[in-house]
Amino acid sequence: MHLHHDYAKHLPDLVAVTQGEEQPDPKLVVLNEELARQLGLNTDWLRSAEGLDFLLGRDSGHAMAYSGFQFGSFNPQMGDGRAMLLGEVEMDGTLWDLHAKGTGLTPYSRLGADGRGTLSSMLREYLVSEAMHALGVPTTRSLAVISTGRPIQRGHVQPAGVLVRVAASHIRVGTFHYAAQSGHLQALADYAIARHYPGADYREFFQGVMDRQIATVSSWMRLGFIHGVMNTDNTTISGETIDYGPCAFMESYSPDTVVSSIDQQGRYAFGNQPAILGWNLARLTESLVPLFDADINAGVDFAQETINGFQEKFATQRRSDIAAALDTTTEVASAYLTAMQLSRPDITLAHRALADAARGHTLPAQELFPDSDFLDSYLAIHPAPDAVDAAVPRVIPRNMAVEAALRAAEAGDRPGHDRVAHARVVDLDAHGVRGLRVFADRTHPQTPLRPEDEDLEGD
Ligand code: AMP
Ligand code: MG
Repeated sequence: MHLHHDYAKHLPDLVAVTQGEEQPDPKLVVLNEELARQLGLNTDWLRSAEGLDFLLGRDSGHAMAYSGFQFGSFNPQMGDGRAMLLGEVEMDGTLWDLHAKGTGLTPYSRLGADGRGTLSSMLREYLVSEAMHALGVPTTRSLAVISTGRPIQRGHVQPAGVLVRVAASHIRVGTFHYAAQSGHLQALADYAIARHYPGADYREFFQGVMDRQIATVSSWMRLGFIHGVMNTDNTTISGETIDYGPCAFMESYSPDTVVSSIDQQGRYAFGNQPAILGWNLARLTESLVPLFDADINAGVDFAQETINGFQEKFATQRRSDIAAALDTTTEVASAYLTAMQLSRPDITLAHRALADAARGHTLPAQELFPDSDFLDSYLAIHPAPDAVDAAVPRVIPRNMAVEAALRAAEAGDRPGHDRVAHARVVDLDAHGVRGLRVFADRTHPQTPLRPEDEDLEGD
């Protein structure tokens, strides 16, 4: 395998050399063979002792520096405190980051931290991120989970694990804050543009980030996904969803739903996600202003105007995403949002019911939307049944199913990803996409996250 160190080579002041710690008894719990092959990686080699050492960062790599606004407060010194960029692999002229999480302390670790994470949290990220990918959401992917053979205490004593993830890059809004403070703003912007927005000027770059993030967060919301910790270090420049900590799919539609136990104010509630994205992008413009224009006032004006347009842009995207999935008009998409607020049905079931209604089987939809004209107006314009059927998922990683899979994994003598993989990750219908088998045929109360499964430790 030819591994690049492109980020470290171009931006040496934004990384620190680090090495994954030695692990007592590493075992590959799950390998995403399909993804490995897409990246041109040899799966036999990845399964070998040498391959495992590579995945665990034993050959050394780089911790990436970043800052972040966490729950609104600026933390200038963050960075990969328990993770590292192994390097990049090239596919068809594009670089893909291989990044391992849970590999031990780095120069950016906080005092008293251990650089580790639980096997269960790594498996959770694997399951949810791969499901997100299967559902068509831009996201980091998961290549492998390794149990390290080390017990760690998080609530109770449990096995530790390492996740190896793949991303177009790990450049975050927080990376720009770090670069701006340390005098590397332009170098980082030029690098990010070359990698993700080739040919763009700085203004187009910012607009591109905004557009991609709007598309991503809008697709979360169509599916009911709550990220849970949209700090600026968890907002990527590439538009990929990153950091699957205290996240979950909302079931019954309710915009004030919060999944993270530490989110007391509901800052990252389902319905607040657009506003928070706008806030994070406003923080990004603040650091980019010097690049927008030689005249600082003109730069500020551009930033202000672009941010002022955010809310309307997001609302437009959200309506058109819904209209596309339900094969309807943006007016009916607005009526849909009002009806969802009013009736608060299970999101996935409601979408399936609408697909059925498009086929003439209206009873389930009538039951889910009892007091609204929405259904009548939806059916009046004759949505194409096959199009709706193909666009709305049958299967999402409901927390109940994810929890069951993780408990099975924890209980398994072979730290059970076989059971996770076979019981829960199934081939999904004609599209050949992979997803999780869940209970799409009945409603049940939302299963809360177990405190141990929240992974509040972050990236
Ligand atoms: P966030 O993703 O915004 O919640 O930020 C999490 C920060 O804490 C990142 O800088 C992580 O690298 C760091 N961190 C989390 N858990 C650990 C750990 N066990 N050891 C060292 N650093 C950690
Ligand atoms: Mg993070």
